[in-house]
Amino acid sequence: MAPIGFGRELLNRVLVGTPVREEPLRHVADLPSRTARYVDWPEWVADPVVAALRESGVARPWSHQAEAASLAASGQHVVVATGTASGKSLAYRMPILSTLLREPRATALYLAPTKALGADQLRAIEELLDAAEELSSIRTSSYDGDTPGEVRQWARAHARWIFTNPDMLHLALLRGHARWSRFLRNLRYVVVDECHSYRGVFGSNVALVLRRLRRIAARYGANPVFVLASATTADPGTAASRLIGAPCAEVTDDGSPHGPRTVALWEPPLLTAVTGENGAPVRRSAGSEAARIMADLVVEGARTLTFVRSRRGAELTAMGASRLLAEVDPDLGDRVAAYRAGYLAEDRRELEAALADGTLLGAATTNALELGVDIAGLDAVVVAGFPGTVASFWQQAGRSGRRGEGSLVMLVARDDPLDTYLVHHPAALLDKPIEATITDPSNPYVLGPQLLCAALEMPLTDDEVRAFGAWDVLTGLAEEGLIRRRGHGWFVTGESKPHEALDIRGGIGTQIAIVEGETGRLLGTCDTGRAMSTLHPDAVHLHQGETYVVDELDLDAGVAFVRPEVPEWTTSAREITDIAVEEVLDQHDHGAVAVALARVQVTHQVVGYMRKLHSGEIVDLVDMEMPPQTLDTVAVMYTVTPELLIGSGLEPDRFPGSLHAAEHAAIGLLPLVATCDRWDIGGVSTALHIDTGLPTVFVYDGNPGGAGFAERGHSAIVHWLNATKDAISDCECSAGCPSCVQSPKCGNGNHPLDKDGAVTVLTAVLGELNRSGP
Ligand SMILES: [Zn+2]
Ligand SMILES: [Zn+2]
Repeated sequence: MAPIGFGRELLNRVLVGTPVREEPLRHVADLPSRTARYVDWPEWVADPVVAALRESGVARPWSHQAEAASLAASGQHVVVATGTASGKSLAYRMPILSTLLREPRATALYLAPTKALGADQLRAIEELLDAAEELSSIRTSSYDGDTPGEVRQWARAHARWIFTNPDMLHLALLRGHARWSRFLRNLRYVVVDECHSYRGVFGSNVALVLRRLRRIAARYGANPVFVLASATTADPGTAASRLIGAPCAEVTDDGSPHGPRTVALWEPPLLTAVTGENGAPVRRSAGSEAARIMADLVVEGARTLTFVRSRRGAELTAMGASRLLAEVDPDLGDRVAAYRAGYLAEDRRELEAALADGTLLGAATTNALELGVDIAGLDAVVVAGFPGTVASFWQQAGRSGRRGEGSLVMLVARDDPLDTYLVHHPAALLDKPIEATITDPSNPYVLGPQLLCAALEMPLTDDEVRAFGAWDVLTGLAEEGLIRRRGHGWFVTGESKPHEALDIRGGIGTQIAIVEGETGRLLGTCDTGRAMSTLHPDAVHLHQGETYVVDELDLDAGVAFVRPEVPEWTTSAREITDIAVEEVLDQHDHGAVAVALARVQVTHQVVGYMRKLHSGEIVDLVDMEMPPQTLDTVAVMYTVTPELLIGSGLEPDRFPGSLHAAEHAAIGLLPLVATCDRWDIGGVSTALHIDTGLPTVFVYDGNPGGAGFAERGHSAIVHWLNATKDAISDCECSAGCPSCVQSPKCGNGNHPLDKDGAVTVLTAVLGELNRSGP
């Protein structure tokens, strides 16, 4: 029995401040504290390294740190997947520092998904080295976009441990490998930190960059050991092996301590005064509910951090909490702030210090703060809206808990089917999650550009092409005249610059540059296919938590001009979508139901957009016409016979709305089994599809060639559709709302939608799937 601790007390204070009729509390769990499991320093760790680590405050390692470090030291690639603040960095510091000390030429590479995290890790290592005389020969350097030219030159010539990111690895170390021969020849270790953040198309690109690194290192005679650090995910060893392209051991048994935690799942009430699209009810927003909760907690003196999805949302939440607090006590109003998600280290230090010493009692921030920030030991964490993955949720929740004392974590549901499902099915969040990190390095659209980079770095042999699994892709490139065989290998032809052409964080294919019109500043890129629906003129565009409005989309020039502005509404495109089955990759028949994975071609055309207030109220619908776009991708699909549906009580006139509602909810729930965002995927449903002749539902990857998400849905279809059905029936609305079957990205204005019919469809489909077995 877990002790009813401080977390419960805090939750009771929040409940006292909640109108009784709202009944938002869906579940409470008391997670027991975990005591530390210490082990002795492994014998192979060099004495001066032990001394330096002791000096820095680590008396002895926790079990998982020593286990992962020893595997790495024995030459085994390893991923350590444990909770926030479990000291994963010690797992690579022990073997790397020991090796760099013993072998005066040996080098190591550290890769972080963000510059901020890389800078933090470098700073920590430098503090450690500065304090230890015997380690002073180990020279470190950053190597990223901010590193000045002379430092870069010095780093190439002298640095033994370089801190960079996959982008620079791609553009600098690999492209210019001849200049890096000293470093690469002596490369002993590669650290891939926060490796669960490499997913989807970005993750697939990083996977290929890492394969290129292993190939080039081998050319210089090096065979580095990879040490990966991950948040807790399902099957981290498999994901890590796919990421680096080699077998990787996993360490998941967390030996670090934490105090007891109370986790509360909270669903704000449906509002009566406001209605949304098609007259649907709207829930009180997670942000305003979180503001009230944070105010209640701060009144109790609890140090509270609230995570909100956008920066604008974070500011509104902080302002809301501050206003409520000022009513109670004018002094308290100033003790809450929004954390402006600049990535400047000083800003973050200031916030960390203010929260640590209690000057600040509450802060609201975007998810940007999730990685690489040193805030732990808070009394309460409020997560306003599920952050997309279970891994992210625990990363945020992990900020709570002063050593040994209790703390409170609250998930406040947004009006989204996945949020609805999670607050009604706590096991999906609190027990072993099944979401796995998805990458697909075999996607030909990702592989093609990567293969050109690899060939430019060093001509490709036939064996290497086969090892990349890229024979067909190479043949295609050769037919296009981009690559040619000469003597012993495949060469890139002409003057092409494949590295510059490939943005590993961008989408696939031609990119639209998003440019701030006033300043000419490049904010980012977006693939052409998606630009139509998110960057059309007057679209409200969210970029890294900042809000912009699109002035002009110039498809020929490949640029969208935007201006910073925060209107009262959001926009969502209206579009017409068609889907054609090109090739069935895998199909299983289950009586009246068939499930398949297929290559499809999706055609969609934007025909207008809707403006919606933040409260959920509709402003208006604006007509516009954009040119049609096609997308070749992969879909998971199911068909069901009309007889089965009619036999289940569904008349044919209800087929379209029922299938449409089932499709929407399925898109919303796919992130439960695959680490994707609902914006990465799309869907089509129809009562009669021309290729199947049957009522059919498709859910497809939004990127050319697919990113592996549909495939994951296909392999977990029973679990996925069950969760979809439950999310719909759990919602207390009468006829469908954004918390169940309405979709913020529906091209059809969320019409027609039949909530009850969707449950009927899914029940019938699952009945057939379960009856015929796997
Ligand atoms: Zn609903
Ligand atoms: Zn729709």
